[in-house]
Order: sequence, then structure tokens, then C-alpha cells
Amino acid sequence: MSIWSKIFGMKAAQKSCPRCLGKGHVDWADIKRLDRELIWIPGKCAYCNGSGMVERTMEERVPVDLPFLVINSPEATRKKIIAGDSGAMEVGHFHHQQINATIDEIVYLHLENGWDAKEIFEYFLSEGRNSKLADKRDEVVDYIERVIQKKCNV
Ligand SMILES: [Zn+2]
Repeated sequence: MSIWSKIFGMKAAQKSCPRCLGKGHVDWADIKRLDRELIWIPGKCAYCNGSGMVERTMEERVPVDLPFLVINSPEATRKKIIAGDSGAMEVGHFHHQQINATIDEIVYLHLENGWDAKEIFEYFLSEGRNSKLADKRDEVVDYIERVIQKKCNV
């Protein structure tokens, strides 16, 4: 053990957060670097819980880009995911699959039907699959637009 790790005992076990690069929050540059543009939005970092530091061994246990480790989950859920709790992981994977299925559907509707973001939104609305959809029109249309941009215009 070096003199430094004796003096800074606790600090030695920590390192700068690899998700937010120590800032404590993720911005679009971090989101892009980790290829999560269609899953995350900027905000407090869920990987380090805003502290900017994580346990040195955390990355071996929890992938830095784990899609469903997000700050809008309840703190108990976040802790369970970090601990590798199988139930919490299963729920997270299920939600992530649902998001991916929606992304695939948007791509299909755009490519097969030639629909733009607004037409796809109207289709989702007419199907009535989410009662809150109408209130979030601009937000959802913008998201559909981003899916099309990222997935179809390569
Ligand atoms: Zn972080």
C-alpha cells in the first residue's frame, strides 16, 4: 500500500465516473459517446448518482451504458440494479425491449408506409395505446423525428 492510499484510504477505491466523466450529470456529448441518444436525455448521472465518482470496480459489475440505469427510476430500484438484483434487472430489460420494439415499429412505418413523424404520431394516437400521448404531442413527434434521423438517414 502506498503512502497515498494510506492517507487517502477511501479515495483510493474510487475513480472518476466513466458515464459522465466526473461531471455528475450526463449531457448530449456523453449520451452520444455511449450511443444512447434514443434512450436517455441529459440530466443527473444515474451511474454515480451525481457525485462524479464511483467505486473502482463498479464497471466490472455494471456496464457503463446499461440503458435502464436511469435517474428517473426510484432510488431503491437504482440500488438494486447496481447490486445486480435479478428481479430489477429483468424489469429493466423488459422495459428496454419495449422501447426497442417501438423504435423498430417507427422505422418500419417510415420505410414501408413512407410516413413522417406526424403521421406516425397520428397512427399511435388512433390506436389509443397510451392515454397520455395526446398531451405530449410535441415531445413525442420530436422523438419520432429523432428515431427516423438516426435509424433511417445513414
Ligand atoms: Zn456519473
